[in-house]
Amino acid sequence: MVSTSQPNTTAASGTALVIGGGIVGLASAYYLAKDGWQVTVVDKGDFYDNCSYGNAGMIVPSHFTPMAAPGIVAQGIKWLFNSRSPFYMKPSPSLSLISWGLKFLKHANEKHVKQSAPHILGLNVLSKTLYNELSVELGDEFGLAHKGILMLYKTEKTAEEEIHLAGEAKALGLELDILDSKQVQALEPDVQLDVMGAVHYRSDAHLYPPALIALLIAKIKAMGVRLVPNEEVVDILHRDGKITEVISETNEFHTDIVVLTGGAWLQGLAKKVGLSIPLMPGKGYSFMTTAFDGKVRHPSLLLEARVALTPMGGKVRIGGTMELGPINHHINMHRVEGIVNAIPEYYPGYRLPMPDKKEIWHGFRPCSPDGLPYLGYSKTINNLIVAGGMGMMGLSLGPAAGKIVAELALGQKPSADIILFNPQRYH
Ligand SMILES: Cc1cc2nc3c(=O)[nH]c(=O)nc-3n(C[C@H](O)[C@H](O)[C@H](O)COP(=O)(O)OP(=O)(O)OC[C@H]3O[C@@H](n4cnc5c(N)ncnc54)[C@H](O)[C@@H]3O)c2cc1C
Repeated sequence: MVSTSQPNTTAASGTALVIGGGIVGLASAYYLAKDGWQVTVVDKGDFYDNCSYGNAGMIVPSHFTPMAAPGIVAQGIKWLFNSRSPFYMKPSPSLSLISWGLKFLKHANEKHVKQSAPHILGLNVLSKTLYNELSVELGDEFGLAHKGILMLYKTEKTAEEEIHLAGEAKALGLELDILDSKQVQALEPDVQLDVMGAVHYRSDAHLYPPALIALLIAKIKAMGVRLVPNEEVVDILHRDGKITEVISETNEFHTDIVVLTGGAWLQGLAKKVGLSIPLMPGKGYSFMTTAFDGKVRHPSLLLEARVALTPMGGKVRIGGTMELGPINHHINMHRVEGIVNAIPEYYPGYRLPMPDKKEIWHGFRPCSPDGLPYLGYSKTINNLIVAGGMGMMGLSLGPAAGKIVAELALGQKPSADIILFNPQRYH
């Protein structure tokens, strides 16, 4: 048996067990430990085999609309029938998929987007500030760079949609420029671009996720956080509205508070304490390439293709696709081909070879049906804080989620408004 109840020597009293050591769990551990909690993080993997490792590394205040946005449904239906398309939902009689899909449809409207935008932005802006602080506190070797992100478009239709969105972004206070093809080219003088234009979100940033995770792990270990890798949490016992024991494959944990992250596995974990948290894994792929030879200066999103391209430590990481459905580790090479083929359409000098299957990373975005995080205290289990469901922007939102977890644990007012993120909003 492992007891996380060790004597307290610091300000905040008590013990905290964090379930899941992706960016959300590690950031939670960091801010909890800073406040003086005795923290343990348990993970079924080795902390490097989750979604927080191979993602595109973009810090995105620009992504202020939830995934359930108007237009995505019609576009998604067109994409469903194309094996190389960036979006896929396997037609399936799975009840959870149908139920998630219905909730998604309910939220794919203008009203939901308008209502959610300031709340998502608030969390993103907080996180960006925290990343700046982390680059001092952890050391800046995780490559945090403030060059913004280029939203590249090739067609009139996308230009129109993107420029409309840019207007809303500006009204919300984001710094951006709308660029024609010559202006985009001037920002990227060393690579030829074939685009109609771009919105340059100057407020965005990027970083190298594997270095961030390694530095965060080293830091929290030095702060006394105990990391328990390769231990799957198999049960969570609770009595009278309180978690009494968390059981993993070979350990039992007793703790004052539990922070439940778990990424794409959150729904199953939450069920163990009677919480209904709808979630669908959204599989995506990425790979590294040396083809650009250090010549790309800015991260970009190739909008029509839904492909992300991020310079990272001299190489470039390319990522994309969203396959919604139960977790499976099959690498669909047709979709990878769709990603590879998109590159020369925007960067004509770069017809990349297909990467080897073993070089392709895959991860599961934890997607809530309304595109909003789950962040807050449980209403029914009073020593449980939930932090998850950050979908396409979990890396971006991780530090804010962690900071807010620590604030809630101390009974403080959170630094950003979390009213829409109630983890039990579907009860
Ligand atoms: C291709 C791609 C590109 C992306 N690009 C970006 C980007 O540019 N910017 C951005 O902000 N986001 C991006 N994302 C999304 C982002 O990576 C995720 O939202 C984020 O990593 C989720 O973090 P998390 O901590 O919630 O989950 P994870 O990182 O998945 O961590 C969850 C952890 O919980 C553990 N766990 C699960 N079940 C159990 C259990 N029973 N017991 C113990 N441990 C358990 C898992 O092992 C895992 O380590 C991208 C995703 C993909 C796929």
